[in-house]
Amino acid sequence: MTDAAVHAREAPELAGPVLVVDALKKHFPIRRGFLARPDLVFAVDGVSFSIQEGETLGLVGESGCGKSTVGRAILRLIEPTAGTIRVAGQDITTLSNSAMRPFRRELQIIFQDPFSSLNPRMTAGDIVGEPLRTHGLATGKAARERVAQLFDRVGLSRAQMKNYPHQFSGGQRQRIGIARALALNPKLIVCDEPVSALDVSIQAQVINLLMDLQRDLKLSYLFISHNLAVVEHISHRIAVMYLGRIVELADKATIFTRPGHPYTEALLSAIPVPDPAIRETKRVLQGDVPSPLHPPSGCHFHTRCPYAIARCKVETPLLREIAPGQQVACHLR
Ligand code: SF4
Repeated sequence: MTDAAVHAREAPELAGPVLVVDALKKHFPIRRGFLARPDLVFAVDGVSFSIQEGETLGLVGESGCGKSTVGRAILRLIEPTAGTIRVAGQDITTLSNSAMRPFRRELQIIFQDPFSSLNPRMTAGDIVGEPLRTHGLATGKAARERVAQLFDRVGLSRAQMKNYPHQFSGGQRQRIGIARALALNPKLIVCDEPVSALDVSIQAQVINLLMDLQRDLKLSYLFISHNLAVVEHISHRIAVMYLGRIVELADKATIFTRPGHPYTEALLSAIPVPDPAIRETKRVLQGDVPSPLHPPSGCHFHTRCPYAIARCKVETPLLREIAPGQQVACHLR
């Protein structure tokens, strides 16, 4: 997957956004001592984007940049500090647990580690059928038939419904996770590093499955990954995150051919290529992501940016459109 040419995915017909996230923030308070005032971890610090029906938005950045926190906040698995989350036009940001219940059917998640996210004491069939029982949608024979259809849909055999998670390979376990996510006919699935734990050959199979399901079921995906090469095939648009903020958002072809932000350039440089001549011209990103507990002032990226100027240390660049459909947060653009 890493050395494939960039092909723009045909944009889906626009039927209105399934998800609109506006100025989303998640700050985690941490206390260093009983009497100490809490410090704040700025995990997500004002993130805005939307996802259309049938669209995949790739959300990319290094570990610790806040992308998984965005995914969990959208699902209300953690409570946002500020901002709004709209699903099919409805603000779900502060809904109570009971008011959230119908929206939980619309919003599902596929986790990175398919093994730890599956209950080892339940059969695969029971795992996939659990959401149906929890939401009172099917029981008995009807539930078993629905689960069997879901097994067909994700490429598992019906005979495997009675097997336990340890009896499956990593790729098969991720298929169980996908079947479970599909059980309630969701509109949007947050895919949180869904292939990072899998071999490269299996990654391609799982991504192809997700794309087939999207085409057939008009699903929307927020596809989270630390690796731009992984989101390349599945995404229509890509948002690049750095230390809690989106620094670039554009369609996939633009990101890969005309990146507008130095951090996007660096992530592209990190994609392995077989040609040694190209390898020598690559700019390797130095150092680790700074701590979100004390993020650098101004542009968070200035401590690692080869183009940084004095202004970058004191002034936060706003995300703004530099070309049709391409938004970049950099003073030099
Ligand atoms: Fe680099 Fe400055 Fe642009 Fe930030 S604003 S990416 S530090 S040039």
